[in-house]
Amino acid sequence: MPITQSKTLISEQNASFLDTSYPIMEHFHTIQGEGVHTGQSAYFVRTGGCDVKCWWCDVKDSWDEDKHPKIAVADILASIQKFKPAFVVITGGEPLLHDLTDLTRGIHSIGLRVHIETSGSSPLSGELDWITLSPKRFKKPLLEIYPYVDELKVVVLTKKDLQWAEEHAALCPENTRLLLQHEWDTPKSMPLIVEYVKENPHWGISLQTHKFLQIP
Ligand code: SF4
Repeated sequence: MPITQSKTLISEQNASFLDTSYPIMEHFHTIQGEGVHTGQSAYFVRTGGCDVKCWWCDVKDSWDEDKHPKIAVADILASIQKFKPAFVVITGGEPLLHDLTDLTRGIHSIGLRVHIETSGSSPLSGELDWITLSPKRFKKPLLEIYPYVDELKVVVLTKKDLQWAEEHAALCPENTRLLLQHEWDTPKSMPLIVEYVKENPHWGISLQTHKFLQIP
């Protein structure tokens, strides 16, 4: 179950999480480009491995976790601490393929909040402060994630996806932020979401602003 942990500094006695390592495709400081926290300073940790395999995926290099080096939590934290992010985003790949307990404990130990972007197709793990669920047709979310979703972000390619988005929204808590995002390489999906949000104001639009700004 995701919980918000009070922030503590790393202590010698309670730092066993530091040695745990994860396959990491990349980790970097940037601006959150999508969703509710768009425009904020964020440190992204992109784990390797994804078994969802969306055909339109723009990070296919992440799929095979064996292609990516295993990096210890201590080294990830040292990199994060060189910058001034408002929070850390764990993304993928599909980050929930890994037990995120030690990585998220480590991030909390340096006083930062943990956000995750997931398809919800694997069991929840770790201490998570903000859960963005981006459901995918190719491997549907597990039912256990819905009560904890803070932000539902549905990628829309065709009209059928709008109905599908409503089906997921119905499973989320009432205060979940509901966002539609057009598929970047499917331009005809943009007018679809614009018209839908105009008629259905409980939804909003998530733009991939980092792609407009041409930043990673
Ligand atoms: S779940 Fe995400 S990383 Fe995995 S294939 Fe789909 S878009 Fe790519």
